[in-house]
Amino acid sequence: MSETSKSLNFIEQIIEEDLSNGYSKNDLRFRFPPEPNGYLHIGHASSICLNFGLGLRYDAPVNLRFDDTNPAKEEQEFVDAIKQDVTWLGFKWDTERYASDYFQQLYDWAVQLIKDGKAYVDSQTSEEMAAQKGTPTEPGVDSPFRNRSVEENLSLFEGMKNGEYKEGTHVLRAKIDMASTNMLMRDPIMYRILHKAHHRTNTDWCIYPMYDWTHGESDYIEQVSHSLCTLEFLPHRELYDWFLDQVTSPDKLRPKQREFARRNLSHTVVSKRKLAQLVEQNIVNGWDDPRMPTISGLRRRGYTPESIRNFVDTIGIAKRDNLIDVSLLEFHVREHLNKITPRVMGVLDPLKLVITNYPEGQEEWLEAENSPEDESLGSRQVPFSKELYIEKADFKEEANKKFFRLKLGGEVRLKNGYIIKAESCTKNTEGDIVEVQCTYDPKSKSGSGTPESLRRVKGTLHWVSIKHAVAAEVRLYDRLFTDESPDTHKDKDFMDFINPDSLKTITGYVEPSLKSASVGERFQFQRIGYFCVDKDSSSDKLVFNRTVGLRDSWAKIQQKN
Ligand code: ATP
Ligand code: MG
Repeated sequence: MSETSKSLNFIEQIIEEDLSNGYSKNDLRFRFPPEPNGYLHIGHASSICLNFGLGLRYDAPVNLRFDDTNPAKEEQEFVDAIKQDVTWLGFKWDTERYASDYFQQLYDWAVQLIKDGKAYVDSQTSEEMAAQKGTPTEPGVDSPFRNRSVEENLSLFEGMKNGEYKEGTHVLRAKIDMASTNMLMRDPIMYRILHKAHHRTNTDWCIYPMYDWTHGESDYIEQVSHSLCTLEFLPHRELYDWFLDQVTSPDKLRPKQREFARRNLSHTVVSKRKLAQLVEQNIVNGWDDPRMPTISGLRRRGYTPESIRNFVDTIGIAKRDNLIDVSLLEFHVREHLNKITPRVMGVLDPLKLVITNYPEGQEEWLEAENSPEDESLGSRQVPFSKELYIEKADFKEEANKKFFRLKLGGEVRLKNGYIIKAESCTKNTEGDIVEVQCTYDPKSKSGSGTPESLRRVKGTLHWVSIKHAVAAEVRLYDRLFTDESPDTHKDKDFMDFINPDSLKTITGYVEPSLKSASVGERFQFQRIGYFCVDKDSSSDKLVFNRTVGLRDSWAKIQQKN
């Protein structure tokens, strides 16, 4: 194996092999084929990055194809959301296609199959058909309608198309082999009657083609060279090929189906159907709830397209299904946000701190660097005054040497400001500390160049000036499910594992520079984590989403348990 082929994933290796066996690079064409029955999720991101990644690698077109053959579940809203998400992830499709564009062609081919004696109308109930299916070890039983004449089949099928029959009265089946060891080959259904309006074809059709009949033929129409799908379609490949055998002509490219592993993320579910349940039952606030593993939820939560692409890249393409820990996704967003976000100060659990030797009524604006990672982000001014908020957790009356924050008699530096020393504290009647009194060293101002400013103390705290701080709603998110794979339990429903504490809403206090922050803007709240402005924010009320904490606290909690 050469150096370059070592780094290829197995799908790329298949393509390389095809290229060396006579495929031309110009023949390569891919597609991403979502069904518009929900919003895209992080699992889809793997498929998107794979297909569009191949397009970029081989300079080949990639279609966005909506697999819209079930009007009962599909909606324009989902089509729009899918287009927005693929674009946001950073990809451009060649053409936008719809399986419904091919309804006439598929119908014409089906008529041809009937004429060739390869399809028939079955008029049994679905229960009767199911009873004849057999088992993997026992052959199925032929339908009593299997040997209908071509004329009768043509006339019934036309009647189905013309709306003469009720739902469930007839189906069109391929005539393959009721004894096949592959159950999917036992005369699979090609069409069913559905008297439902379709989001694009409206009431033009009342028979709708099934997935297997539609997918390969759509690939063929679009001349997709490699039709990549997830592993559960492996047994469908034989049928995919059988259907293609009926329609392909030798002068045209014949698509290939190849399978890769579905990606599952821990502590969530990646299935549109299950995610729809969370939305419908108001467990979350819509498809873009920041706790959802949807692309739109992750975007609203503060994820960047780069972080999602890097995550997908890291997990790669696999041949076997497995569970990816969500902390890996969080690692990637942390890594990217660290590079690009400006640092700001916000206090989420405030404790009042009074600097007793700071002149009453005085205030000053301190220079604060926006990012140690990126000088181009510049600097800003933060107001300092006699009364500040610090985090409750940053002060203790007494603590051991490992506590590098503030304790009575101890010193810390206030970020971008002065060194302070805690002198005393006040408690309420319950014994909770409600105020800390400190003194500050006026010569120790950060960046002032004095020997005192260079003096090192163990801890640095973030803070806000009470007088200048802006109150903001802060939404703290946690795992949506308490179990790492909620939908894999035989005796329990995934809904049994909903985490009741997945959202905590608090009031935090942020520095005034954030007043003008716009929806979607991302920040690092120093020493706390990454936050972004939610779309619920308005000019009189800031709302922040916590994207992710600075450190992986979840992993630590898990280790302790
Ligand atoms: P869902 O069960 O969530 O509806 P699906 O497979 O039915 O998923 P489609 O809209 O048909 O959803 O998916 C479009 C493409 O994305 C398909 O090729 C599918 O195989 C792929 N895909 C869907 N889920 C995942 C996943 N978890 N990991 C990798 N690829 C996925
Ligand atoms: Mg599906």
